[in-house]
Amino acid sequence: TEELLLQTEKLMAAGQLAAGIAHEIRNPLTAIKGFLQLTEDHHNDTKPYFEIIHAEIDRIELILSELLTLAKPKEMKFKVMNKVKELLEDVTTLIETQAILNNVEIVTNMSSCTPSIECDENQLKQVFINLLKNSIEAMPDGGKIIIDLEVIQNSIQIAFLDNGPGIPDHLLNRVQEPFFTTKEKGTGLGLMISKQIIENHSGRFHLSSDAKGTSIIVTLPITYPGSEAVNI
Ligand code: ADP
Ligand code: MG
Repeated sequence: TEELLLQTEKLMAAGQLAAGIAHEIRNPLTAIKGFLQLTEDHHNDTKPYFEIIHAEIDRIELILSELLTLAKPKEMKFKVMNKVKELLEDVTTLIETQAILNNVEIVTNMSSCTPSIECDENQLKQVFINLLKNSIEAMPDGGKIIIDLEVIQNSIQIAFLDNGPGIPDHLLNRVQEPFFTTKEKGTGLGLMISKQIIENHSGRFHLSSDAKGTSIIVTLPITYPGSEAVNI
């Protein structure tokens, strides 16, 4: 456990540092973008160069916005809420178009009453979007995603299951490391950030995968009014 604590502490420190740097880079980048637009000419010979500059700036912005979600836990806005189900439904609606375009069916299986948890809604949303996007991206020829919401003892358990190609055994740990990606346009930050957000919520993030698909189980502790959070 000591080893684990140390690792968690290191990760938190690295996350804060990354978020801090991302924040610092964003301002000069905005300036560069502005002046780029001012100086941009539309000669045919330079046009392709400007297109590349724009695409690369967009890419830096994507990486920065992902890193910024690693913001310090003390800046996270934890609130008690009992709408995890609604949150999942919102996210599903949000991602529906992308799913349909990719022939991916999303099936939800959620119990009607959900107890309260203490969370930062936007960060949880970010996690759910990351996971659903990964599943859709893993199944370019279509497939199925199942979202299962269950109350188990003192926790809410959300399972995201897909029937994509899965992750080879030897990559299971690496895919959770920062910047590891198998995608041409990937950032390799989604899983790492999702895991960190869930752990900041005193929850657990468990990834497993085989040739039949990938499953991610997120467990979040239930909050009871007037009591400290229970350990799960
Ligand atoms: P990115 O999506 O930018 O590549 P992530 O951290 O979200 O970064 O994912 C890292 C890698 O993990 C992906 O490039 C992919 O190889 C693998 N991966 C993640 N989710 C899935 C999934 N549902 N099915 C198959 N592979 C996955
Ligand atoms: Mg991703």
